[in-house]
Amino acid sequence: MTTIEDATSALQKVLDAGSNKNVIELDWIKNVRVTIPRIIVTLSLPSFANSQRDRIVQEVRKYLLDFEDIEDVQIEIDNNLSKTESRTESNGPVLQQIEGIRHIIAVSSGKGGVGKSTIAVNLACSLAKLGLKTGLLDADIYGPNTPSMMGVTEQNPKVTEGTGNDQRLIPINKYGISLVSMGFLIEEGQPVIWRGPMLNSIIRQFLYQVEWNNLDFLVIDLPPGTGDAQISLSQSVPISGAIIVTTPQQVSLQDARRGLAMFKQLGVPLLGIVENMSVFIPPDMPRKKYEIFGKGGGKILSAENDLPLLAQIPIEIPLVDESNKGIPISISQPKKETSVEFTKLAQLIKNQFVDK
Ligand code: ADP
Repeated sequence: MTTIEDATSALQKVLDAGSNKNVIELDWIKNVRVTIPRIIVTLSLPSFANSQRDRIVQEVRKYLLDFEDIEDVQIEIDNNLSKTESRTESNGPVLQQIEGIRHIIAVSSGKGGVGKSTIAVNLACSLAKLGLKTGLLDADIYGPNTPSMMGVTEQNPKVTEGTGNDQRLIPINKYGISLVSMGFLIEEGQPVIWRGPMLNSIIRQFLYQVEWNNLDFLVIDLPPGTGDAQISLSQSVPISGAIIVTTPQQVSLQDARRGLAMFKQLGVPLLGIVENMSVFIPPDMPRKKYEIFGKGGGKILSAENDLPLLAQIPIEIPLVDESNKGIPISISQPKKETSVEFTKLAQLIKNQFVDK
């Protein structure tokens, strides 16, 4: 089991670039607390070392996450000495901005199969159609579907020149979107069994070691549920807002509620609810609408939590057909009601975050 001594000794590998002394002998790290699976440390940098802060935070995390039984590292900043954090929460983890990304929108759901990836993909496409530079990070390690929804399963992303930490993954560009997916790392049809520390480090790599190029928005397709990946992500980057996807069925509300509660607990701002599969629109009778999955789920959830119901997305057959062909419906059939709803959703998000 990792002890305070082990942690302190690992931290001696983190050096001040100027003097080449380590952060322990310089007394820049205080209060190392180990409560398996978490380590909490306080970083107390003199102002002249502030420019090194992001690197030091990264290295502290890296070395501590190397311990097999450590899944979470929280770094508190001693505010008396350092006042230039990108964004920190008092006593919470340091949230480190990703270079070149203005806003991060997380798309989440309490359980799988409710259409979370479909919403993430079409939201990203609709933001791009509004002229915004948009990226899509498919962090759904259990079912990374976006490469197939975007028609890029055959492509392998390249890496920049350099070695080790200098290397960056170059996103695949499709429909005006910069795409990075866990699916690029996993062989099709293979199950993924990643333990906490490995998951943490892979997610961090996908955030920080990608050549994101000046994006207005990065949409993140999270795995369903309330596990390690969601927590790790929320504690790494400043998420501008999370969207919870649910279906109208009241039985799916329980899962959605858990997802909502998690984000609240983690201090992530919630943008609102998207109800997917609200009604079925038959292709031959588009005026008819059938509530095949019941009704009211989105409304109930939004009222309970005082959050807006951002969109109600119908079920349309072309959505499935086109998605199977690797073309999101908002690209292939922009006039369909589903696509119009996605555009409205993107516009709402644009209005909220981008100067008008
Ligand atoms: P999740 O990411 O929540 O697991 P997906 O986005 O992968 O869900 O969607 C599951 C399946 O449902 C996919 O086959 C997708 O094409 C289909 N689907 C999702 N939303 C709709 C919709 N509004 N209309 C028709 N099919 C949909």
